[in-house]
Amino acid sequence: MIYLDNNATTEPFPEVVEAMTEFMTSRFWNASSAYGQLDGLEEVVESAKIAIRRLSGVGPDDEVVFTSGANESNAWAVAEGARRASGCGWVLSSQIEHPSVREPIEYLQEQKLEVRWAPLTRYGTFNLGELATLIDSDLQFASLVFAHNETGVIQPLREAVTLIRERAPRCLIHTDATQAIGKMPVSFSGELSEVDLISFSGHKFHGPKGIGGLIIRNGVLVQPLIRGGGQQNDLRSGTTNIPAIAGISEAAEKCWELLQKNQHDVVRAVRDYFEEHIGTSFPEVVILGTQAPRLPNTSFWGIPGTDADDLVHALASKGIAVSKGSACSTQSIEPSKVALLMGCSYAEASSLIRLSASFNTTFDEVHAFIDQLHELCFHARIIQDASYP
Ligand code: PMP
Repeated sequence: MIYLDNNATTEPFPEVVEAMTEFMTSRFWNASSAYGQLDGLEEVVESAKIAIRRLSGVGPDDEVVFTSGANESNAWAVAEGARRASGCGWVLSSQIEHPSVREPIEYLQEQKLEVRWAPLTRYGTFNLGELATLIDSDLQFASLVFAHNETGVIQPLREAVTLIRERAPRCLIHTDATQAIGKMPVSFSGELSEVDLISFSGHKFHGPKGIGGLIIRNGVLVQPLIRGGGQQNDLRSGTTNIPAIAGISEAAEKCWELLQKNQHDVVRAVRDYFEEHIGTSFPEVVILGTQAPRLPNTSFWGIPGTDADDLVHALASKGIAVSKGSACSTQSIEPSKVALLMGCSYAEASSLIRLSASFNTTFDEVHAFIDQLHELCFHARIIQDASYP
């Protein structure tokens, strides 16, 4: 399999599997028990927190709470935001949030809480001019994504946070950084230290599925979402998932080392190689988000006249994994919403496919992918109407 769908999930590093196996076999204990404590399981959690803090560039006193993944972290952040906004406030989010942020916020809207949605520019970034006009002093909660899962566009979060802080100093600010942490160097310091809550997920950076977390800034008080057990300082109850925490810890360590060695630049070179070659093979290709800063691994592209669903299925049958950006969890046949917001026609948006590389992706794999695409487009007549050189 040529695996090019790393924004959906990544292959766990061998070290991750090894670390997890130890805590699923010889050291499967309950971390909160006397024998678990004697066995040093609490230290496993502490060193995982250190690895996550380093990977995300937050301070030593910022709390890391492990959850079942970014979906839960986002639900938790929104629940806290709703609690703060109930009564007099309102909440701000953007038109391009992942469903795990958007849908809980839409639910708040149904419960009659006022929500304002920041619009997008045609480059795929928040429209800061319009965002500024939306903010006033009784804003209680803002949730803005850091890097978009389909386009890979990195949002002007620093500028957005500055605008929010100037106008609503007490607003709780959350970012869903799930697609950025582990894929590129990030530092939630400077103006970004104004972000109070940060979501991340282990399987997006070669860790296991079912583990992620919420970083809570030192001094920010948050009510738990899941109660009853008191684990993780009473912030997230449930028997501590030591195997997964040991796994995410290894993944965070290793990603940090790779980023220190600028391996994300190699990933970017692989992605750019793909874009250059697809541009040569299919001059009419549309690639979204190229005029904004992007995740180094992501390309969101389409060949006009093709249908992304057909092509993704045809490629899968040839052993190549890519996806329609919008179909991360459903078999949705709807074209990408973000593409429509960026000004694509319905037909263009329906042709878009997301390629997302990882530290493991090679130039040869990308080359083989483009060859296969050629085969399919020219010989299998997936493209019906267009004529190509
Ligand atoms: N936020 C973003 C931006 C994502 O891409 C995803 C995963 N598709 C999530 C949240 C949810 O992550 P998880 O499935 O690990 O809970």
